[in-house]
Amino acid sequence: MRTADIRQRWLDYFGSKDHELVPSVPLVSPDPSILFTIAGMVPFIPYILGTEPAPWPRAASVQKCIRTNDIENVGRTTRHGTFFQMNGNFSFGDYFKREAIDFAWELLTTEQGKGGYGFDGDRLWVTIWDQDDESYDALTKGIGFDPKHIVRLPRSEIFWDTGQPGPAGPCAEWHYDRGPQYGPDAPGGTLAEWPGDERSEDRYIEIWNLVFDQFVRGEGSGKDYPLLGELDHKSIDTGAGLERIAYLLQGKQNMYEIDEVFPVISAVEELTGKRYGADAEDDVRMRVVADHVRSSLMVIGDGVRPSNEGRGYVLRRLLRRAVRAVRLLGYDAEALPVLLPVSKDAMKASYPELETDFGRISDVAYGEEDAFRRTLVQGTTILDTAVSKAKGSAGSGTPVLSGAEAFQLHDTYGFPIDLTLEMAAEQGVQVDEKAFRTLMAEQKQRARADALAKKTGHADLRAYESIAADLSAPVEFLGYTHTDSAV
Ligand code: ATP
Ligand code: MG
Ligand code: MG
Ligand code: MG
Repeated sequence: MRTADIRQRWLDYFGSKDHELVPSVPLVSPDPSILFTIAGMVPFIPYILGTEPAPWPRAASVQKCIRTNDIENVGRTTRHGTFFQMNGNFSFGDYFKREAIDFAWELLTTEQGKGGYGFDGDRLWVTIWDQDDESYDALTKGIGFDPKHIVRLPRSEIFWDTGQPGPAGPCAEWHYDRGPQYGPDAPGGTLAEWPGDERSEDRYIEIWNLVFDQFVRGEGSGKDYPLLGELDHKSIDTGAGLERIAYLLQGKQNMYEIDEVFPVISAVEELTGKRYGADAEDDVRMRVVADHVRSSLMVIGDGVRPSNEGRGYVLRRLLRRAVRAVRLLGYDAEALPVLLPVSKDAMKASYPELETDFGRISDVAYGEEDAFRRTLVQGTTILDTAVSKAKGSAGSGTPVLSGAEAFQLHDTYGFPIDLTLEMAAEQGVQVDEKAFRTLMAEQKQRARADALAKKTGHADLRAYESIAADLSAPVEFLGYTHTDSAV
């Protein structure tokens, strides 16, 4: 099944179960406390928290998401994209565990010819909270699910909350077993930490998380808080990764090989003359390119432009990492004019607006690639000199590039610190990041003092304000570490 068809089937299924089909909100989060929409539940938070009445008792969506906290996983695990689509079904004080589990089972295991996804039920596993007998019964008695494939976990592993007093509740996570060639067997039905290490997570791939918004929680840090009682208004919030379902149904090895992503890898093969599958590190780079080009396309599509802070900085970093990965694959000329249209063509079945907006989107992307190429030309020689100097004076210890050199690269040549870190690391050199940060802070201080002096001298402040704003821009990547659909 094409990814676009898997998406449509989700909507058709939940539509047939009386869910309101709600269009995706933009990637720019409607919730001002987070930069990007990180889960399908984000637009429904007020209904889940009960601070606003829900317009419908049940809803379903396919939500565009960005998770920057997964950026280091991209291309290395089989299942993490910076951009992905989260299929969701929601109940706001309407149905609860029993029905949510019935729906999940029916949609996952009904044959493809009869409106489902046709997964083999014998290969599914579910993790639940160890106290959640209701879910256990709904699984075993309700749908006849094999108890040996139910894993009971402690609260620390499988509980959702918002980080503060209010609603909280257990999850039931559905996993698909890809088979023993992908990792060791799971310890069935035990309290052991599971799925455990990366290897077995790539075997038992998490596809769908059902969050049961059941309890009122009290004060406490982490997962160590009292449960004060049951909510009057219980909700269901679920999220299933469209790309994960797609890669399993399409018989691929990972989410970067599906129809919406792989065409970019093919285009990279053509550009660079390298073959996907020939070298493990090159394969990671190709997957990173395909992921980041797609994320950039979608983020620009939703109105973000590259800049030095916030969302714009995330976009800048995605584009630059893509361009750098192509260079590391041995191709030095402009790459985006080749790759971006390929990604757009792969995505337009689900997002036709990408075609109509492509002029604007491509101007932004190509402009950023040009600017970055200029930066690279200027800074790379300086960086290379600093790196060989560090290596020359390191003796038998680890070579370290000084904070002053990193600062000069930033200040004079526009090299963001993460680029210096990455490029130095590729040559086995560390960077004295602490000294770099001290120099940055001192520079900020000086800028403030200057601005103040000008202010007392009645100068026009506006110009200085914008400089000060630039200098105080975060240089760190804003890795929002949200997991498990936490708000
Ligand atoms: P994982 O443990 O694999 O990182 P998660 O527990 O962080 O996933 P949830 O927050 O439960 O994920 O999100 C709901 C669903 O969204 C997941 O079950 C998965 O199918 C999908 N998903 C989550 N993060 C990603 C991602 N970075 N790329 C693709 N799909 C994702
Ligand atoms: Mg995660
Ligand atoms: Mg999860
Ligand atoms: Mg998980």
